[in-house]
Amino acid sequence: MQRICIVATGGTIAGKGAAPRQTASYRAGALGITELCAAVPGLEAEADITVEQFASIDSKDADPDFWQALAVRLQAVLDDSDIDGVVITHGTDTLEETAYYLHLTLKTAKPVVLTGAMRPATALSADGPINLLNAVTVAAHPGARGRGVLVAMNHAVFGAREVAKLDTLRPDAFGAPNTGPQGLVHDGRITWLAASDRAHTMDTRFSPATPLARVDILAAYAGFPIDAIQAARAAGARGLVWAGTGNSTASQAVEAELASVAAAGLAVVRASRVNCGMLVPTESAPGQIWTDSLSPWKARILLMLSIGSRLSRPEIQSVFASY
Ligand code: ASP
Repeated sequence: MQRICIVATGGTIAGKGAAPRQTASYRAGALGITELCAAVPGLEAEADITVEQFASIDSKDADPDFWQALAVRLQAVLDDSDIDGVVITHGTDTLEETAYYLHLTLKTAKPVVLTGAMRPATALSADGPINLLNAVTVAAHPGARGRGVLVAMNHAVFGAREVAKLDTLRPDAFGAPNTGPQGLVHDGRITWLAASDRAHTMDTRFSPATPLARVDILAAYAGFPIDAIQAARAAGARGLVWAGTGNSTASQAVEAELASVAAAGLAVVRASRVNCGMLVPTESAPGQIWTDSLSPWKARILLMLSIGSRLSRPEIQSVFASY
C-alpha cells in the first residue's frame, strides 16, 4: 500500500452549514481532517493514510505567507522516505493559486494532489467525500509521479498550471480551458491523458525559500484610469500584471503609461482577462513580458518569484516561455 499524508487547510470541504440544503451559506474550515476522513467509506483500503491539520481557513484568506509556510511543511513531508505522496484539502476559491505556487516551488517527483469541495460537508449530496477519496486514489497511483502538482475535483484531474475555477457554485466548477484534464477517475480507476510539457517542481529555479516580491494585477475595463498604474507603483509594487482585454490589449492612454513604467524599470507582464486562449506578443508593448496562456493570477505568482529571484527582464521572459 502507498503511504499518503493528507494535509488539511480548511475550505468548504470542511464546511458546516445550519441545514442540509444550505450549499451557499455555511462556515468554511469548521471541521477537522479526522472528521472528514471518517465520512469517506473505503479510504483506509485505498492507502496507508496519515493526517495533519496544517490550517483551518477559508481560502479567500490565503496569502503569500500562507503559500510559503505550507510549501515549507509539504517539502518536509515529501522529503520523508516513509511518505509516497501527499493530498492537500483546500478551499476552492484560491485553490488554483496555491496549486500553481506549489507546482513552481516544491522539489519532488512524488504525487502532490489538491482537492476541495463545492458543497459543505453538512450538505445533501456533499461532494467532499468522493473528491477526497479520488484525490487519494490519484496520489497513490504511479501515473501521478513527475506530473507536478495536480488538482482532483469532480472525477477529473487537472494540472496546476492549467486548472481554473470556472463556476461560482456548481460541483463541476473546475476545468482547464486551454488543455482539458490530465486524467479522469471513476470507480477507483484512472485514465491518464497528456501531461503538461512546461517546467515544474524539480525543473524550476524556485523553491519554498524564494522571496516573493509584491506584484499587483490591474484589470482592463472601459475608461480604466491610468493613475491606478502609478498608484500601484507608489504603493510598492515591483511588478504589474496587465489583465488586458482580448490579446492583452489596452486603451491608448494605458498602453502609453505601461510603456513608460516599463521603461522606468518596473516589470510589466501582459496577460488577458479572457479565461481561454493563447496570447501573441505585439509591438505595442515595448519592454514588456508576455505570458502565452497563464491567467493573470498565475502570471502574478510567476512574476513574484522571478523578481524575488532577482532575474533580469530577458531571464523573466524566458521563464514565462518555458514554465
Ligand atoms: N470560500 C471557500 C474557500 O475557498 C469556498 C470553497 O472552498 O469552495 O475556502
